[in-house]
Amino acid sequence: MPTFSRPSPMTDGVLPDPWLTARRQLLLGQFIVGIVAALLALVSQLHHLDPVDGVALPLVVLLLSGLLAALWTRRVSEKFAGRVAYIGIASYFLAALAQQLLAYVPRTGHLSESTYWFAVVYCMAFIGWQRRSAIVVAGATYGVALLVVVALSVTRLQGLDLGGGAFGGFVIQFFSSGLAAILLLYHITALQERYGETRLLAFADFLTGLPNRRCGEQVLEQELRGPGPLTVVLFDLDHFKSVNDTHGHDVGDVVLREAARLTARRVRGSNQLVRWGGEEFLLIMPRTDVHTAENLAERIRADIATHRFEGVGGLTASFGVSSQRPGDTADRLVKRADAALYRAKQQGRNRVKMPTMF
Ligand code: GH3
Ligand code: MG
Ligand code: MG
Repeated sequence: MPTFSRPSPMTDGVLPDPWLTARRQLLLGQFIVGIVAALLALVSQLHHLDPVDGVALPLVVLLLSGLLAALWTRRVSEKFAGRVAYIGIASYFLAALAQQLLAYVPRTGHLSESTYWFAVVYCMAFIGWQRRSAIVVAGATYGVALLVVVALSVTRLQGLDLGGGAFGGFVIQFFSSGLAAILLLYHITALQERYGETRLLAFADFLTGLPNRRCGEQVLEQELRGPGPLTVVLFDLDHFKSVNDTHGHDVGDVVLREAARLTARRVRGSNQLVRWGGEEFLLIMPRTDVHTAENLAERIRADIATHRFEGVGGLTASFGVSSQRPGDTADRLVKRADAALYRAKQQGRNRVKMPTMF
């Protein structure tokens, strides 16, 4: 019996991950909101500037503006921007929290409005890091905040009249809402990971682990909009039906997996190998001229023709090559490759053919 593997991550990265696009927009949006909020905080304190805010808020504005520009112009990755922003912002919020307990709470008896932002800080941990690391990072920030509040409450606030226990209420709300935010984010990102896996599975061919036709069609659409020329090679195993008839369907499956593995070894860079149909594969080659594609097809043809397939022996395949023409659709491009493949079959199989005009 052939063993079925889970579809391999061969589909990973073939199509742009919507989360990565969303993450970029999310970060850009957050940086803009952060800059505006920091500037407003500065303006609102003009007459009575807190010493920590006086230093930290301009630094926050500088940091977020720098990251905004670098991310906008794609000079840094989302991961880098998210992490640097997190470290900067979390450090500021922890310093501001300590400052509040030293100067603001003894005067007012409650935490200031800036603590509302802590939940956003936890959110940013889940944008900058993967779920498991994010919970450690957010948890560590939460732990330091707890330590700061407990230590300074014990050493600095003992014996002060803070509104008859109201301060305790603020602290409890602050930490319980923070914990709820972290747990919620942890579960939402777990769901997001599950959706990500399901998405990869939807684009994978279960038997060979290659991207499936649905994925291939989307790659073609995407590459047709690229700089070109886009060239495709459609190939089909010769007399495959007789492999099934002689050796059984399970052996046929093993042959398909072997053919996929054999061909995948030749596929480099931005080229994509797709299982297009039963015993039909499509090689998508962006920015490749028809002659380069023909050469590669010839090498794959020779690989297959000289390979000894387990339990079957020798096999061959026929190939059709087609290059993008002005105004082409994915369907037309593949149809031309199919027509060339049909001619390869007609002319005796085990050969590479091009459209009559390319
Ligand atoms: P030709 O040289 O003209 O391509 O002949 P062929 O026998 O390869 O072509 P045909 O289209 O008649 O047969 C294709 C066969 O591929 C029929 C089908 O049962 C088999 N097939 C399709 N998908 C699978 C699969 O997933 N596993 C197995 N074992 N066989 C498959
Ligand atoms: Mg076929
Ligand atoms: Mg066939």
